Amino acid sequence: MAAMTSTSGTSASTSGTSASGRPLLNRRLAEFGTTIFAEMSALAVQTGAINLGQGFPDTDGPEEIREAAVRALRDGRGNQYPPGPGVPELRQAVSAHQSAVYGLAYDPDREVLVTAGATEAIAASLLALVEPGDEVIALEPYYDSYAASIALAGGRRVPVTLRPGEGRFRLDLDELRDAVTDRTRLLLLNTPHNPTGTVLTRAELTAIAELAVERDLLVITDEVYEHLVFDEAEHIPLASFPGMRERTVTIGSAGKTFSFTGWKVGWVTSTPELVTAVRSAKQFLTYVSSGPFQYAVAEALALPDSYFASFRADMRAKRDVLAAGLTEAGFEVYRPQGTYFITTDIRPLGESDGFAFCRALPERIGVVAIPNAVFYDHKETGAPFVRFAFCKQTSVLEEAAARLKSL
Ligand code: PMP
Ligand code: GLN
Repeated sequence: MAAMTSTSGTSASTSGTSASGRPLLNRRLAEFGTTIFAEMSALAVQTGAINLGQGFPDTDGPEEIREAAVRALRDGRGNQYPPGPGVPELRQAVSAHQSAVYGLAYDPDREVLVTAGATEAIAASLLALVEPGDEVIALEPYYDSYAASIALAGGRRVPVTLRPGEGRFRLDLDELRDAVTDRTRLLLLNTPHNPTGTVLTRAELTAIAELAVERDLLVITDEVYEHLVFDEAEHIPLASFPGMRERTVTIGSAGKTFSFTGWKVGWVTSTPELVTAVRSAKQFLTYVSSGPFQYAVAEALALPDSYFASFRADMRAKRDVLAAGLTEAGFEVYRPQGTYFITTDIRPLGESDGFAFCRALPERIGVVAIPNAVFYDHKETGAPFVRFAFCKQTSVLEEAAARLKSL
């Protein structure tokens, strides 16, 4: 399969040229403008619309965790550069979490790396592991930073498209197998999946693991929504499949699980060799970050099961409110099994261009959403899909639903 080089991920930018006419932005980044999240959040502020675009909660996470951050700051923990791999308390907490929740053992000293959110973990992993010209397979639609980070690493992205079927977006395993070539360096996976809400099944993950072992591929797996799975869906870390622990870089983040997206505390768990490789890149990106917040997230990861259960139940209820509203408004709704996003198809509303639809929506009815096309290389495939975030207060979702009904 040919690697894609078309424009992806972001809306157009104007980055300008120098006096001699040379573009200021280097050619690796030239196709990436301002992220759609920044563009749409700005539109929400400008129009006063309800922002169901960028995925951030409109209420903060647990009060005791916020207080833990205040305490760390006051006690002078983390106010100066924390250790490069992250503070020991957080590395131990990440290790304990992976062990308690999934039965995966990681040495906190050698197999855990704290990063500036999952975003840096993704960038550092790709910069560390990809040689220029290597192919990187990513599930399409893909989170926008994947394309930019693959490009920064000089890699060539090869999208494998998730397609609607039986009420969810599904992975075609034959297509995935066909996408692997001698130039494929790694698979970049995401489950639970943003923006479709798909959670890869045990059968799908088994097949992916077999393929990775057979073709000797590395895998980066973005599991930032690991605690946001609903109904009968189950999150199973890819690293837990036979032959995978030694070839998998697993990425987590406190932003989604604890509703503190601004703290930017993420982490990587992998083998000592892979963690060392990722750290080699990471140390020249931020070196370290989020000092006091690292201590607070260590406490958050040790919250009782009841926290995670009620967070999940709360989000499931919000999903149901927004899904019902969207259905009633006439959208085709792909009920997400995970994440806090709902992908819809706008064709039943007589629309087909998600970009135009989303750019007009704030003026039309005072709601902001994200056109999924930005997450596609195959723009025409993504065109009719639009994403709505439901990590908002129920009253806000109800108001949005009422506005959507007027479409
Ligand atoms: N991966 C996915 C799939 C995401 O949706 C996001 C956005 N939160 C990130 C990574 C980035 O996470 P962070 O805010 O921790 O950098
Ligand atoms: N992950 C968030 C989303 O998908 C956005 C984070 C960002 O703005 N980079 O909405």
